[in-house]
Amino acid sequence: MPETLCEKYGFDHAGRLRRLALLRLDPGEAALGERLHETVIAPNADALVDTFYDFLLDQPEARPFLSRPERITSLKRTQKAYLLSLGRDFASEAYFEDRLRIGQAHAVIGLPLALYLAAYTWFQDRIMETICATAPEPERNALVSFLLRITALDMTLAAETYHLEQVRDLEQSLTSMELERAALAEQVERDSLTGVHSRQAALARLEELLGRLAAGGPPFCVILVDIDRFKAINDTHGHLVGDAALRQAAARIEGAVRSVDLVGRYGGEEFLLLLPGLDAAHAAAVGERVRRGVAAQPLHLPEVTLSLTVSLGVAQAVAGDTVESLVARADEALYRAKRSGRNRVECA
Ligand code: GH3
Ligand code: MG
Ligand code: MG
Repeated sequence: MPETLCEKYGFDHAGRLRRLALLRLDPGEAALGERLHETVIAPNADALVDTFYDFLLDQPEARPFLSRPERITSLKRTQKAYLLSLGRDFASEAYFEDRLRIGQAHAVIGLPLALYLAAYTWFQDRIMETICATAPEPERNALVSFLLRITALDMTLAAETYHLEQVRDLEQSLTSMELERAALAEQVERDSLTGVHSRQAALARLEELLGRLAAGGPPFCVILVDIDRFKAINDTHGHLVGDAALRQAAARIEGAVRSVDLVGRYGGEEFLLLLPGLDAAHAAAVGERVRRGVAAQPLHLPEVTLSLTVSLGVAQAVAGDTVESLVARADEALYRAKRSGRNRVECA
């Protein structure tokens, strides 16, 4: 069953009684509501509604919401029904339902709350004038007092619906901002070509591991992995094949490391691996697994099948290391691997 407005805004029986008590409206005053209707409102309803819209049409900020004549006609009709039910059976669920609907209708078309309340206060003032001009003297004070309290109920309900509509709008834009943020974070985290971590993400994680090591944390190693003679692949087969080879090489590297390890694209055809908890000897064994994982089978690329090898340089982090000093040692080891014939693992 669709949610009623009373449910949506929290006006169950107890909620309604609380709101009425707050405004000193006693359900026992129902007869006053009827008197207000008979003596003041019903005989003057059209004139009063005209007054409300004349006021709004005088306000430059309100005009954009009321520019279409058919909209005014329909709003006036609603407003008249709203006026004709003012104060009648005001403790009932149907009454609250009705009153909440009008606030929501104005909130939905985007009429600013201040403007609505200003117009409504003007409206209230005109009804008061009509009471003074038409109601029998002995009833006047009671009717004015009732009018002030029953219109205050409308105004608090309108404020509520506006507020909740805005909160819902805000919630919606927060949700879409959160999705956007997550997508952006994903872009920053991941390398768009290969899908492994970005250089930025890998270096941030490396900083974190160094911080932990300095605080007495576990050992860890880094490995620089560089594809051998990759330029020749581009030169021979073109950049698209080169890209596909890079993607597959990255996937093989990721497949060869543990799930706690991180693979980042350090640059071009170079990858930086972070291996938490491992000393150099164990990291070299992981490096060897990576080397074999890439070299073992030829890559099946669009239109060509080719073999690929990688060279690796392993370095264990030591106290006092920075990102630069640690990566530089891995780079020296990598350079040695290249000089000694490629397709091998060297340790710093
Ligand atoms: P070495 O064994 O000494 O590492 O030789 P190499 O050819 O791999 O080394 P070099 O540094 O001379 O060349 C690296 C090549 O990687 C050059 C560059 O065009 C290519 N490359 C870098 N990034 C990309 C990329 O995103 N896509 C493609 N297709 N090629 C890339
Ligand atoms: Mg290189
Ligand atoms: Mg290379």
